[in-house]
Amino acid sequence: MSIDLAFDRQHIWHPYTSMLAPLPVYPVVSAQGCELTLENGQQLIDGTASWWSAVHGYNHPLLNEAITRQLSKMAHVMFGGITHQPAVTLCQQLLAMVPAGLTKVFLADSGSIAVEVAIKMALQYWQASDKPGKQKLISLRKGYHGDTFAAMAVGDPEDGMHSMFSRMLPQHYFLPAPDCPFNAVFDATSIAPLANLLAAEHQQIAALVLEPIVQGYGGMRFYHPEYLRQARALCDQYQVLLIADEIATGFGRTGRLFACNHANISPDILCVGKALSGGYLTLAATLCSDEVARGISLSEAGGLMHGPTFMANPLACAVASASLSLIAKGDWQQQVAAIEQQLNTELAPCLASAEVKNVRVLGAIGVLEMHQPVDVARLQQRFVELGVWIRPFNNLIYIMPPFIISPAQLAQLTKAMRLVVGLTG
Ligand code: PMP
Repeated sequence: MSIDLAFDRQHIWHPYTSMLAPLPVYPVVSAQGCELTLENGQQLIDGTASWWSAVHGYNHPLLNEAITRQLSKMAHVMFGGITHQPAVTLCQQLLAMVPAGLTKVFLADSGSIAVEVAIKMALQYWQASDKPGKQKLISLRKGYHGDTFAAMAVGDPEDGMHSMFSRMLPQHYFLPAPDCPFNAVFDATSIAPLANLLAAEHQQIAALVLEPIVQGYGGMRFYHPEYLRQARALCDQYQVLLIADEIATGFGRTGRLFACNHANISPDILCVGKALSGGYLTLAATLCSDEVARGISLSEAGGLMHGPTFMANPLACAVASASLSLIAKGDWQQQVAAIEQQLNTELAPCLASAEVKNVRVLGAIGVLEMHQPVDVARLQQRFVELGVWIRPFNNLIYIMPPFIISPAQLAQLTKAMRLVVGLTG
């Protein structure tokens, strides 16, 4: 029986779509390694790792085995008043790899929820302190932190979803997006807006929320580690917590295990997700320091006020634990370095296209920034015809493939990118 696309079109929402004029969707029946198989048998090389998550590729034998073994014991059990081995093992592994000073883990059910929890942590921490007035946040323009309300409130106020929900959203402070590219000499004036805002308003500020080094869906911008280092120092100076959203960047994607490692800093609160479960199941985590946890526990509520039904789902924890074991083996370092080198070589020619404004590569992320927004549906179809799965948005054509991609597969992705910007291959 074939997948009922007419039913899908009439009844099922896809991300960010209209029910009146839905964009085409492609029926996928299986996925293996770095390839998706469509219902008509066509195979597509995957340039997305399913939105950064499937870093080890699809249908991985060790991940399959971990989830199957757990399934035979227990698919799910509530986490209130109960614990289980998959959660304990996963948190042990996670704490052993994150930047120093993070000691407590909250297992959340998606990236957006991990950000919501991080914000609750920061607000509860200051409520319990002698500075209860610290209840506002600072975030960066061009940032993206998820689609739930508190997460939207710290996403870019113009390009994000602010304008349509602005009357419902808490009002925070926005800084200009860091104007200091990763590979350029650091421009010290880029940090001045943060220094000035903190000097003026720090009594009201609970936390600075940012995506370290790579601003993802707000523009795929890579900024200088020195900005992050100085932001950490300013947060310390003005008693402001630093929340690092590593949901996209965590677990090797930028060439370091965590993007914070580029600047050698630790945040007070860290969000991870996406690649945490190797792309198998929805799972995220919010980690914090002893100090933040102590403050929250002294707050009026007496604890952290969050507890979803599917918290610490054992299947998700078991597969995440297997994924982190693969990360801990360390092959990703050589894989990501090789991807970076190949992307640099094979995407650089795109600058010759009049449609391309900028080409950026960091770790296993390759970005073509176009002068104009692209026609997503048309370009998507062209990519499928070329045998690749690349999902552009706005004025960005970008890839972040599974780390296990072969040089030949990656060459097919970069060739397709060169072709769609009008080069001959
Ligand atoms: N933060 C960042 C940096 C992200 O890239 C995303 C997902 N695109 C999120 C938060 C939200 O994660 P989720 O889609 O799992 O809710």
